[in-house]
Amino acid sequence: MPGDVVLLEAGNQVPADLRLIEIAQLKVDESALTGESVTVDKHTGVLVGAVHALGDRLNMAFKGTMATHGRGRGLVVATGMATELGKVAGLLEQNIERSTPLQLRLAAFGKRVALAVLAICAVILLVGLLRGEPPLQMVLVAVSLAVAAIPEALPAVVTVLLALGARRMVAVHALIRRLPSVETLGSVTYICSDKTGTLTENRMRAECLFAGDGPAWLPGPALPGPLYAELLRAVALCNDARPAPGGGWQGDPTETALADVAATAGLDKAALDLEWPRLQELPFDADRKRMTTLHRSLQGDVAYTKGAPESVIPLCNAYWRAHGSVSIDQRAWLARADALAAQGLRVLAVARRSYDQLPEAGGEIAVLESDLCLIGLVGLIDPPRPEAAAAVRECMTAGITPVMITGDHPATARAIALRLGIVDNAQAPVLTGADLTALDEETLRARVQRVRIYARVDPAQKIRIVEALQAQGEFVAMTGDGVNDAPALKRADIGVAMGKGGTDVAREAASLVLLDDNFATIVKAVREGRRIYDNIRKFVRYAMTGNSGEIWTIFLAPMLMLPIPLLPIHILWVNLVTDGLPGLALAAEPAEPGIMRRPPRPPDEGLFANGLWQHILGVGLLIGGLCLGVQAWALSMGQAHWQTMVFTVLTLSQMAHVLAIRSETVSLWRLGLGTNKPLLGAVLLTFALQMATIYVPILNPIFKTQPLSIGELALCLAASAVVWAAVEVEKAWRRRSMFPDGAATADAPTS
Ligand code: ATP
Repeated sequence: MPGDVVLLEAGNQVPADLRLIEIAQLKVDESALTGESVTVDKHTGVLVGAVHALGDRLNMAFKGTMATHGRGRGLVVATGMATELGKVAGLLEQNIERSTPLQLRLAAFGKRVALAVLAICAVILLVGLLRGEPPLQMVLVAVSLAVAAIPEALPAVVTVLLALGARRMVAVHALIRRLPSVETLGSVTYICSDKTGTLTENRMRAECLFAGDGPAWLPGPALPGPLYAELLRAVALCNDARPAPGGGWQGDPTETALADVAATAGLDKAALDLEWPRLQELPFDADRKRMTTLHRSLQGDVAYTKGAPESVIPLCNAYWRAHGSVSIDQRAWLARADALAAQGLRVLAVARRSYDQLPEAGGEIAVLESDLCLIGLVGLIDPPRPEAAAAVRECMTAGITPVMITGDHPATARAIALRLGIVDNAQAPVLTGADLTALDEETLRARVQRVRIYARVDPAQKIRIVEALQAQGEFVAMTGDGVNDAPALKRADIGVAMGKGGTDVAREAASLVLLDDNFATIVKAVREGRRIYDNIRKFVRYAMTGNSGEIWTIFLAPMLMLPIPLLPIHILWVNLVTDGLPGLALAAEPAEPGIMRRPPRPPDEGLFANGLWQHILGVGLLIGGLCLGVQAWALSMGQAHWQTMVFTVLTLSQMAHVLAIRSETVSLWRLGLGTNKPLLGAVLLTFALQMATIYVPILNPIFKTQPLSIGELALCLAASAVVWAAVEVEKAWRRRSMFPDGAATADAPTS
């Protein structure tokens, strides 16, 4: 209850949001809430200033965090959903799961087809009864036709296809957390990606340092004077990097780069840490964009601050020179930092402040980070990932707009975006976090499709970018790694979290996890998603055309004054052997040529767009026509085996069909039979089973079949082959309309 007093000891989970009233060396691990791995020293003093980020509210202990050291006593100020943790949970809750386009389409489709099939079966039953057929047989035929033709297995097969797809995606380092995302990946029109670590390697290196009046120093073993010695001491001390067991450094890449440059110039960080022990610290956080550490030495106490130039330089009223500090021209220094950022460097400003008398333990931010003396600037390079530029190009040809969202400086972001090809000119618009705050929703929506770079953005602002894009009808994939990214990841159509870096909370909220944290992997996943959706459509094309063939056969027979062509067992058998294995084997189909050269599929595009309906009805009619043609011919020739022949044509023509629809454009002889071995196996197995129903004597009475002569079997095979030929003609026509320049033939399909 608010007002209760809670005692905290090391190891306790904080049970509610507490205002601390008494502490003894209390340290709290707030990583679950803020993403910061460093434990935070708490105090009971009053915070100065109006707004404080969570990580800066040092006189509070928040629900869900953990006391790791010392003890304390706090007054409950909020419980349950009113706590800071509850607010994050609330944000996640608001974003109700959106049903995926395919789920919606399948549900709607299933209902409509079921109604249509029931109506047709009722007509068949009625016509049969009117023609004087035996009522029981007619009821059985109508019911078995309904069972066969209602696509009840469709959602289950689609789930299996998605699961097989998800398994394949792991091979390209994309881990699917929500199955339907496999399919929706194909609809992505925007990929909003973090810069550091996803588009870049996150392997930073100090490129140049700047102290005093210059000139800049390019890192190396020889130090150019005491100003740079102070700059390097500052970056070595105000730094949490630790020596890695196998050599080098471990920790935040920005800091390991700084530890590295200090070591290269001959500074021993371990010795410095002993000589200048750390008394206090204000850890780095993405809101303040700086950190401060306070050290004691024989020469006195000194605080070092490093961070983004625009967050550190305004706190400086002097700059450090060999003969003492002089007053600072903040604008000139900010311009110098901008010039470095424009070269694509991440720039840090480094400052110090000496103390004759130490600020009180747990000193306020405002005290520790004021009246600073600027020592200099460090420019760090974080090279773009080598494969990122190609992935960006692939995005563009696939009609997907890549967008960079970063906590870094606008100029740094623009330079890297230019290098990657995300923008093509140095004047490309950049929206900053401050701009975002100033824009209302409507203005943001109007501008969002023109902006490809967002800089100095807080993770909490990402959700506004997602929502604005979605309001413009875009289908958005968004990356994120921190706790604060979780609501945006949840809100995005495809939330993408990092597998190597990043927090569990972000991974929980995401539908896709990049095992290698790499932008190119998102593009690979999109490509895979498109392939899987194509294969789902192929499955629907195959299964529904078969069903339509069965319906046409039974429906048209009475109109053509032919006897009921099939018995219930035939209908059920055809349904059993054709729908299962061959349909599933379509999951192994390689990607269509030009799969990443066509625009994203509109998320609201019907499953039956682009001629699928026509194909199902037309080719189904052809199958029905062939069955009935064979039936009529056999009856006219007085063949006693007419029913077995119809039964065989119905099964084999579906095998011919499944081979023909393996690609929407490439002909079977170009594809080669061996490029989908599971399907070839399934077709051969189905053929063998069908032959068994005809030629294995004990099965004849069960299936009411008779062995066919070679001539009759040859006729059945020839009739079935007509379906394959007809679909090849359809594909040739489609090829011509989709690739008038013959691109499809130039392109080999890829798996
Ligand atoms: P992205 O959003 O592209 O992944 P990022 O998450 O690395 O970028 P932040 O970590 O929020 O961005 O960093 C923002 C800014 O804070 C940096 O541009 C840099 O100026 C500063 N900064 C980053 N790391 C540190 C650090 N360890 N100490 C001090 N300042 C830092």
